[in-house]
Amino acid sequence: MSILESETQPLTSSSTNDQTAIAELRAAFAAQRAAFHTDRYPSVAERKARVGKLIEMLLSHREPISTALSADFGSHPVPASDLIEVLGPVGRAKYVLENLEDWMRPSAREIDPAMMGTAQAYIHSQPKGLIGNIVPWNFPFDLSVGPMIEMLAAGNRVIVKPSEYTPASAELLQEMVEATFDPTLVYVAVGGLDLARAIADLPWDHLLYTGSPNVGRQIMQAAARNLTPVTLELGGKCPAVLTPGSVNATNVQSIIGTKTVKNGQMCISVDYCLVPRAEVDTFVKLSLDFMRAAAANYSQSPDCTGIISLRHLDRLADMLQEARDRKSLVVELEANGRTDRATRRMPISLVIDPAPDLRIMQEEIFGPILPVVPYDDVDDAVAMINAGERPLGLYVFGDAPASTDQILSQIVSGGAAVNTCAIQGALPSLAFGGVGMSGIGRHHGIEGFREFSNNRGVVVRGAGDHFDAFFAPYAKAAAIVKSVLG
Ligand code: NAD
Repeated sequence: MSILESETQPLTSSSTNDQTAIAELRAAFAAQRAAFHTDRYPSVAERKARVGKLIEMLLSHREPISTALSADFGSHPVPASDLIEVLGPVGRAKYVLENLEDWMRPSAREIDPAMMGTAQAYIHSQPKGLIGNIVPWNFPFDLSVGPMIEMLAAGNRVIVKPSEYTPASAELLQEMVEATFDPTLVYVAVGGLDLARAIADLPWDHLLYTGSPNVGRQIMQAAARNLTPVTLELGGKCPAVLTPGSVNATNVQSIIGTKTVKNGQMCISVDYCLVPRAEVDTFVKLSLDFMRAAAANYSQSPDCTGIISLRHLDRLADMLQEARDRKSLVVELEANGRTDRATRRMPISLVIDPAPDLRIMQEEIFGPILPVVPYDDVDDAVAMINAGERPLGLYVFGDAPASTDQILSQIVSGGAAVNTCAIQGALPSLAFGGVGMSGIGRHHGIEGFREFSNNRGVVVRGAGDHFDAFFAPYAKAAAIVKSVLG
């Protein structure tokens, strides 16, 4: 179990505020339920208007979003706020607007004319109803508004619960949504652990949870009481495998550069990388070269995202200290890098050839530490990954498709990328999600639309069928069976 999993105790737990928020949540839930029953199948135009409002909401709040992220993280690069937390969901919404009409159209399925005559069969996606979305702290806007796009496009009503670790972002999201939507359509519930638990207990038509696997288990247990279907977007250790000959400046830039996104606090960041033993020194040199050239003062610059809380910062520092105490080689990638407790900025370090029982090899790191694990044979690297939980993201580097394809085919993962990292999570058209301990279900694109829809199979009777063969008495059935089986 990861420390992220064991450290799910939030900053605030039971409070009078939560009791008020829970009462308001239940009222909002009841109001949304009633509203759904008056509008069970919004038209494509209505859905598009709702998604369009999300675009306007985000674009008109660029600056407050950036300010809120800086307040919550201690330090958060403005261009990254714009690119990831504003333009990310905006691009996703535009993609949905372009495709929604097609997705809503019934999808025809084959029938057997000998049995079914001129009947028609199709899959029709209808709104599920009320969908809850419990959001983690690392992408407070992208992970709340992003899935909301497909939830609204599918004709649902939505209640979002932001993380208690991002109070400024939660408050802003609540304000933005209140100014944009009627609460019977979209509602933001702000509070602590008691509120989070109250959300999981409600009889949703679907519940999305993004966060650690341990809490994911609790969510699924709570949802099971109502047989609520869940999408669980969880975490874990995402590996990068560099095949022999692939340790070059471009690939090392991809890996270390990915660590600079939210300073490693990203579910699809590279958690550790597997490097051919003979190329480990080159990997370290190229990593140092990259930081020197691209981000010499990274940890003292506004390009470095702060670690979300001092507790999370101390956890990362402890993990690194354990590696040092156990005599692992720790390579600091900045000559003058230092951790600043005021902004919670932390420099990036490599840990070379760490012992397998170190915490950095046992837990999801979720920060600026990168274990570099030497391997002798690609099969050993694959076996090592397969000995752990199924990853959310798998990254394979190499020029020979036969070799990269072979690795991709041998490891079950939620998503994957070749010769790059994490970009699979940035495409509006590409299904995103985990497998096994890294999650259940998919969002983004048509798979997201379908995940949040009830995909109903429909048959429309025509002429010339033999449906009566299913009814007693079974003389007709017997004749049909005889004609088929002899
Ligand atoms: P967190 O502590 O902010 O928790 C996430 C949400 O769960 C919060 O809103 C919190 O209030 C709620 N919560 C906590 N305990 C709960 C309970 N018992 N019942 C109901 N709700 C509860 O975030 P975190 O868990 O530290 O997030 C980090 C994890 O999330 C990492 O493992 C990361 O990999 C994963 N993650 C996954 C994705 C993905 O898309 N797969 C994206 C981002 C983060």
